Amino acid sequence: MPSSTRPPGSCARQRRSELAEIPRAREFDVIERFFARATSDPTVLVGIGDDAAIVDSPGCLAVAVDTLVCGTHFPESLPARAVGHRALAVNLSDLAACAARPRYATLALTLPGIDETWIGAFVDGFFALADRFGVSLIGGDTTHGPLTVTVQVIGDSGPKALRRSGGRVGDRIYVSGTLGDSAAGLDCFAARSHAESDDADALIERFCYPEPRVDLGLALGDVAHAAIDISDGLVADLGHICTASGCGAAIDLSALPISHSMSRLLPADRCRDLALHGGDDYELCFCIAPEDAIGAERAAAEAHTPITAIGELTSEAGIVGRQSGSVETLTPKGFTHFD
Ligand code: ADP
Ligand code: MG
Repeated sequence: MPSSTRPPGSCARQRRSELAEIPRAREFDVIERFFARATSDPTVLVGIGDDAAIVDSPGCLAVAVDTLVCGTHFPESLPARAVGHRALAVNLSDLAACAARPRYATLALTLPGIDETWIGAFVDGFFALADRFGVSLIGGDTTHGPLTVTVQVIGDSGPKALRRSGGRVGDRIYVSGTLGDSAAGLDCFAARSHAESDDADALIERFCYPEPRVDLGLALGDVAHAAIDISDGLVADLGHICTASGCGAAIDLSALPISHSMSRLLPADRCRDLALHGGDDYELCFCIAPEDAIGAERAAAEAHTPITAIGELTSEAGIVGRQSGSVETLTPKGFTHFD
């Protein structure tokens, strides 16, 4: 796993005397040095350095924002590079679920102090992901206080925008990638267990560096009826599709995609529990008419992203799991990483 860079100061141990404002000159230095990067996107007419950013956008825009609070949404010891990656990744994942193409981001960063090593690693993680997806950082705010990162993303959205509400009874339910790895990775990270294991490292990597399924979302825009990104666990997030679409779901429990790393490390019932309820995977869950299964496969191939059919939307409310002839009701567990 990447070298650990601790956040500047401690969220929990922050001293009152540290709560003074960052001097304005220092603040501008930091903005200039770390955040103000040139963009090659000609639609950014005004970027960082003025009172507001101005972009030239002819079409519909998709906008999403997420805040990560240190100690609540990520552990204090998470490497700074991973914090930067994750803050953008969770937002790109929201755009992916809407089949929107990411274009711009703003970043509101509250720092307990100016630790240039930490900020440097943070922006490395942020910009490495931004560059991969052609995202320009066009503005933000830098303030002093407990470590908190808010990223807003803006993307192009056409008539193909995906919604949670478009699911229809009989649709096949798919998920991308494998489920539960991130929650398992956090357990390894927090317990520092399996320290010498490649499998534990692979899971920790998934927790630290979630991969937003942007290309898959874009490829699904034409063919899927509904989609959501899995941030709170499959059952909880599929539940949102069901509620919005006015239907239920049946999941084939034996079809849940589970990584080799997780299945080698953990007992089968724990793997199943994490796949159903573990958060932070940022895989996509989407619904497609059964006759469009070939379209789902084509989208997956185009996006170089594995997908698995795990069940179907049903007319009975609620989510059930089926396995070997038995049926059980599945309810969201309200999984949180820090309990
Ligand atoms: P104002 O006082 O007009 O709000 P600021 O001094 O907060 O302006 O910011 C100066 C410029 O730097 C603005 O263009 C703002 O969008 C940008 N900026 C500030 N902090 C960040 C950041 N963390 N990331 C990106 N841009 C930032
Ligand atoms: Mg400001």
